[in-house]
Amino acid sequence: MADHEHDHHDHHGDHGSELSEAQLRVRALETILTEKGYVDPAALDAIVETYETRIGPRNGALVVARAWNDPVFRQALLEDASKAVAALGHISRVGDHLVAVENTPRRHNMIVCTLCSCYPWEVLGLPPIWYKSAPYRSRAVKDPRGVLADFNVELPKDTEIRVWDSTAETRFLVLPMRPEGTEGWSEERLADLVTRDSMIGTGLARKPGEIAQ
Ligand code: FE
Repeated sequence: MADHEHDHHDHHGDHGSELSEAQLRVRALETILTEKGYVDPAALDAIVETYETRIGPRNGALVVARAWNDPVFRQALLEDASKAVAALGHISRVGDHLVAVENTPRRHNMIVCTLCSCYPWEVLGLPPIWYKSAPYRSRAVKDPRGVLADFNVELPKDTEIRVWDSTAETRFLVLPMRPEGTEGWSEERLADLVTRDSMIGTGLARKPGEIAQ
């Protein structure tokens, strides 16, 4: 937890102003770059639109479903998630490193960004509001079991909970445990069981009975 290397230490004060400050900076930068002819505003709009509407947790769910069904892909994902995810055609940003952490009966993984809101956008889309909230960011580290209880997740007492602190350079994706009773399922169908929260570690994958058949 100790060395959380961010290039944006200046805005981890309160959450509300963090956002508007960042937005202002983005707007100012966008204006300068556009005026100088470096960027096309339409291209920027397309990128924003992509994150808002086309890249969401379904992308991550398909990655998880593939890992559940394909041991070779699962191994590749755990070894180098950036590479494995890029091979599936998901956008990855230059300089980023994505790390997949696998849940087992012995260890449950949970992700947080204690300083701001670093998040694996290319597989989960935009972060949920609570992910950026001060209570989540501080309690996830101090009392992960309590946070899980708030999300209605109860784990066996002997399951270790490991919390991973994201940074601008290294972000995490939780590979949840595959629910029982899903043998032979297609990846599309498996992906329906994979919730956004299960990939952040504040939830578990749904059981077959919990989705419409
Ligand atoms: Fe951050």
